[in-house]
Amino acid sequence: MQQSHSKALSNPIFSIITESANELSIDCYVIGGFVRDYFLKRGTPKDIDVVAIGSGIELAQKVASRLDGKPQVSIFKNFGTAMIKYGDIELEFVGARKESYNRDSRKPLVEDGTLQDDQKRRDFTINALALSLQEDDFGRLLDPFDGIADLNKKILRTPLEPATTYSDDPLRMMRAIRFATQLDFTIQLKSLQAIIENKDRIKIISRERIVDELHKIMASRTPSKGFALLNKTGLLEIILPELTALKGIEEIEGQKHKDNFWHTLEVVDNISENTDNIWLRWAALLHDIGKAPTKKFHKKIGWTFHGHEFVGSKMVYKLFKRLRMPLNDKMKYVQKLVLMSSRPQILSEDFVTDSAVRRLIFDAGEHVDDLMTLCEADITTKNPKKQKKYKNNFKLVRLKIEEVEERDHVRNFQPPVSGEEIMQTFDLKPSREIGIIKDAIKEAILEGEIPNEYNAAKEFMLKKGKEIGLHTTTK
Ligand code: ATP
Repeated sequence: MQQSHSKALSNPIFSIITESANELSIDCYVIGGFVRDYFLKRGTPKDIDVVAIGSGIELAQKVASRLDGKPQVSIFKNFGTAMIKYGDIELEFVGARKESYNRDSRKPLVEDGTLQDDQKRRDFTINALALSLQEDDFGRLLDPFDGIADLNKKILRTPLEPATTYSDDPLRMMRAIRFATQLDFTIQLKSLQAIIENKDRIKIISRERIVDELHKIMASRTPSKGFALLNKTGLLEIILPELTALKGIEEIEGQKHKDNFWHTLEVVDNISENTDNIWLRWAALLHDIGKAPTKKFHKKIGWTFHGHEFVGSKMVYKLFKRLRMPLNDKMKYVQKLVLMSSRPQILSEDFVTDSAVRRLIFDAGEHVDDLMTLCEADITTKNPKKQKKYKNNFKLVRLKIEEVEERDHVRNFQPPVSGEEIMQTFDLKPSREIGIIKDAIKEAILEGEIPNEYNAAKEFMLKKGKEIGLHTTTK
């Protein structure tokens, strides 16, 4: 007797789907991620994929008519799919199909098919698992490719020949690596080899889809696993050559530098323990990219990467543009963190003056905590003594930041005297002098010459105005 997994289908929505399918006299199944995640005990997924042996669109319409509030059905005629949003649940319906591909596109030719045909077109055996929604065998598992065994062995395997699977739809290469990272699975060796052979086919995939997968890798618990696999398969060199350029250790006259690629992956894992902010994780991934183009060897001082932070921040823009990532405040945030990524380190090495800390807070603004998190993640030395020392140094910098900020409030710096007031005081039209005075006030505050307060700033303004030959209005 086959075991029933009706427990997975306890949400009343499934009975509504069953009744609707009955009325249309068609069979239907839950398939894909929902079933996989049920067996992996990854919680109850909110995305439910239903495959109908018949019209998925008609089934969706019938289901919607039976649901409270009669939710709208979004129909994607070209794909033969329909979607219903119901509370926080997203139901996707598709008619079972058979697919065949031609070489230039990942869009298949589609014809109606059986459940098995539909399971064959799925990317991995663990994503081809289906549960019956028929009344007489509700909850029966249909697992023609031993997906459950693969789940237990934690293996990603394609239902059909891997080379064909990846060549047909090269996005699956990214998905393989993403699932391996998210689920901590191993990609079957034959599959991995097929990815290596087909890596160049990734070029037919839109950059947006690639970036979606990169984000998911980045959001995983140990992103380095994904980047190491992308590296191993040769995909990384195509997608993010800035990172592969960091690979390797060079030695001249007995002087070596560290392998900045593997260092970077460690930094990403480190930071992922402390933040879920995906853009901060991106900043960690890109914080050293300027090191490849700036690397030099000097006889006296050894290896240097002068200005790599500046060069790196410029490269961030190009990289985001190439990958069609948003060129908005997220990108600027990543650029800023890359640009400032060495600043706290310099502070932690020297005796820390208040003015240096004030400048750091002023420049980093609201992102000063994130910058510290990045710098702490950047400590990858294997020498426990050094590790402890660096961590302690950063702790001191953090304390100092708190202390200085509490006193001077430069984090979201607003000029204590406005340009308007400067103009009125000296009877000026908009002019260069106003900028000079404003800047001088800011500098005096950052240097600690005056406190960040109105009265002190006003007095300083009068003094500075006099110095540059301005006269106050006699009012
Ligand atoms: P997640 O929600 O974590 O991305 P998922 O498996 O639900 O996981 P979806 O992209 O929603 O991912 O896809 C749903 C199902 O559709 C998959 O489980 C898989 O069976 C199938 N699928 C999705 N993309 C592909 C693809 N490129 N090739 C083959 N099958 C795919």
